[in-house]
Amino acid sequence: MKSQKLPAIGKRIGFFFHSIRFRFVLWFAVILAIVLAAFSGFVYYNQARDIQGEAQFRLERKMAALEVVLTMTSNGFLLPQGVLQDTDILILVAPDGEVVASRGPIPAQDATLLAQRAQQEHEQHGNPPDGFVSWSQGNLKPKANYLFVTVPIATVTGRAGLIILGSPLDPYGLSGKLIFTLLAGSLLTLLIALAGGFWLADRAMRPVHTITQAARTIGETDLSRRLNMKGKDELGQLANTFDGMLGRLQAAFERQRQFVADASHELRTPLTIVNLEASRVLTSHRSKEDYQNALTVIRSENDFMSALVNDLLTLARMDAGQTVIEKTPVDLSDVAVETVERLTPLSTRNGIRLETGDLPEVHILGDRQYLIQMLSNLVENGIKYTDGIEKCVRIETGKTDGTAWVRVSDTGPGIAPEHIPHLFDRFYRIDKSRTRNADDDGHSKAPNGSGLGLSIVQWIAHVHEGSIKVESQVGVGTTFEARFKATE
Ligand code: ADP
Repeated sequence: MKSQKLPAIGKRIGFFFHSIRFRFVLWFAVILAIVLAAFSGFVYYNQARDIQGEAQFRLERKMAALEVVLTMTSNGFLLPQGVLQDTDILILVAPDGEVVASRGPIPAQDATLLAQRAQQEHEQHGNPPDGFVSWSQGNLKPKANYLFVTVPIATVTGRAGLIILGSPLDPYGLSGKLIFTLLAGSLLTLLIALAGGFWLADRAMRPVHTITQAARTIGETDLSRRLNMKGKDELGQLANTFDGMLGRLQAAFERQRQFVADASHELRTPLTIVNLEASRVLTSHRSKEDYQNALTVIRSENDFMSALVNDLLTLARMDAGQTVIEKTPVDLSDVAVETVERLTPLSTRNGIRLETGDLPEVHILGDRQYLIQMLSNLVENGIKYTDGIEKCVRIETGKTDGTAWVRVSDTGPGIAPEHIPHLFDRFYRIDKSRTRNADDDGHSKAPNGSGLGLSIVQWIAHVHEGSIKVESQVGVGTTFEARFKATE
């Protein structure tokens, strides 16, 4: 149990470090740390400059006050009351560099060192020695940075000595407090920002988690599930797009499933008929006519299956995008004449008059073979479904406002308006019964179709950037018209 849990925890930790949440918070923290460091540095730099300026100002004031009243005697100096504080350092240097007297929190050897250096500088650079000298606390006690000022002073003996006055740079430890405040403040801000960042990132990423979970539960057979996220933000839009894609996938999947089911259904009936016929005549000895009848039925069913399989193959190729359309300049009237020639035997066999109307030359860019197939399907339908006294199928071409058209009209039973919207759907048949009668040769006289012909017609029209429309009147007849962009 434990051994199973460990890899799972490891996986979770690994995922966490790779998550957008973690990277988002990390980047956020890095940027905030840089901003805080820059801000603290700026504040500290300004404050340190102010502290130093103030210290210099204080020192100058004290020295000015001292200069007025200080008199060096042979054994020390007289200090005016209230000018110096306990932390201030005052060193009186003799002309030979010896410390004559010192006061303040400075050890004797440091005072000597300081006096010698000041004297040296004084001798090297002339009289008086230059401005301020700052000494690091490292050499001196107490542990504070001192700012020194050195000025020459006349002794009672007439020789020039030096007064060194030192004052703590930052007597109240403001710099230290500032550093502490800035560090603590920055750390606290960073911690709060990190916690807030995690919370925000977690909230922002929650819809992604929901989408992932939902997507995991959607199997290929259950495409009906939707995310249904209400949000109008980017993730809401993503979820909506995802839902839309699922909808399209489901529709495509449904179409595919329906297509396979319909195809199997269409094939099952002729296969059953073939099986029944064969079994019937094989059970006992039959007459010659019986065998002939059985074979005629079998052949008729075979014709139907061949046509169906051909149509299925055409549609499958179309769906897979494998169909190659080679467009060349084509005269629609030529295509019409060729179609009529091909189908005249069929129309004659069915007692239908197949005639041509006006056939002016109209040129389009198209694939001749596919256009012939399109017209053949339409004319075959006319032949199949036309009934009545005036049995006629007519084909004509023309051109109106740069649009080339070809019409196939018949004097058939017509199509009721409620069927028109579904006419181009695959496997859609108005008359669902499948009675097929064969002629003397055993071929179907008017083979009932499988409902695929018009979907192929529509596809061919569309790949030629054309359209197909139907006009029909029950009891009068039907006209199919395909329109294309005419060339020249
Ligand atoms: P089929 O192979 O069954 O003919 P189609 O897709 O070509 O399939 O046609 C679909 C249905 O439309 C047919 O079953 C038929 O009922 C109807 N139909 C097609 N053309 C005509 C027409 N010219 N006259 C009457 N009905 C037609």
